[in-house]
Amino acid sequence: MDMKENTGLLIRGINKNFGPVEAVKEVSLDVQEGEFFTLLGPSGCGKTTLLRIIAGLEMADSGNVILGGEDITSFPATKRQVNTVFQSYALFPHLTIFENVAFGLRSRKFPRNEVENRVSKRLEMLGLQDMAQRHPHQLSGGQQQRVALARALVNEPKVLLLDEPMSALDAKLRAQVQVELRRLQRKLGQTFILVTHDQSEAMVVSDQIAVMNQGRIIQFGSPKDVYERPKTQFVAEFLGAANLLRGRKKNGGLETGFGLLVLDREPAWEEGSVAIRPERMRITDVKASVNGFKARVREAIYRGTDLDLWLDPGPLRVRTAAHREYEVGDEVWLEFPKEALVILDE
Ligand code: ATP
Repeated sequence: MDMKENTGLLIRGINKNFGPVEAVKEVSLDVQEGEFFTLLGPSGCGKTTLLRIIAGLEMADSGNVILGGEDITSFPATKRQVNTVFQSYALFPHLTIFENVAFGLRSRKFPRNEVENRVSKRLEMLGLQDMAQRHPHQLSGGQQQRVALARALVNEPKVLLLDEPMSALDAKLRAQVQVELRRLQRKLGQTFILVTHDQSEAMVVSDQIAVMNQGRIIQFGSPKDVYERPKTQFVAEFLGAANLLRGRKKNGGLETGFGLLVLDREPAWEEGSVAIRPERMRITDVKASVNGFKARVREAIYRGTDLDLWLDPGPLRVRTAAHREYEVGDEVWLEFPKEALVILDE
């Protein structure tokens, strides 16, 4: 293990059990310095436990946490250059916004001038300067969320941990805060690690996503990698809609219930599945020369920007441009472009 090369955060072989529950199993990850990194997974998959281990709020049963080349596994939370923004922002209701943000610096006995400077700088960066003298209850949810961020960032941590910090916001505000958070992270060039179960949130903000399930990292990559090249059925379905086609290998392709599909490489298994996203399937005017099949419209749902078709055999889900109209019962030519068929691991 080369600890000098990566100045970011290295997680090595982390395990954590709570009695019989294996919350985190053999997790290893490299988070590069300055990266927006997301732990994405369903409720109970172990992502919060992993975040708490990084923060020093929970002790791992085994494994190491290395930050900036230093093994911090046994450091208490207060000795780590890591700050956390929690789901409930936990602002002090009786303190002003300014004092909420200043709290950490004051308790660490920073000189008055420096406290003023640092707090003002952060409030300004987050567009809160005009609210410095207000109290938390006089702020909207989104503004309170920004105060919680300012309070964590004012300590200039090497790593900022975000534990579902947007889950209390309504959908519209959340979308706005996600973009703001992404912009802020780019501006600061600091390492952010976010925990979320919301795949679209993960796609919006992240450089890298680690998809977790049942205590393990299932796949790790850029948003585009994990969406377009899922390794397993779980990842394919967790990151959006997917058609799963099961079959047996034949002549290097896949023999399925409705015909032989040509693939762009040979599967490693004899029997297994491929996945294809609904927007990658095509409705064609004539039979495609490769992977063209006849299908029948079972349901057509107009969604404004596009049209969702459910086709038989299947039902297969196809997303297509909304300008064409289809009736239930229409026969169409359906194409599975072979480069869009992703071979899943067994
Ligand atoms: P959520 O999104 O619901 O918060 P999560 O992915 O963050 O879920 P964790 O909170 O890390 O999941 O929990 C992982 C597993 O460990 C769950 O089965 C949970 O019930 C269990 N667990 C977590 N903390 C404890 C604890 N202190 N004592 C016992 N079991 C725990």
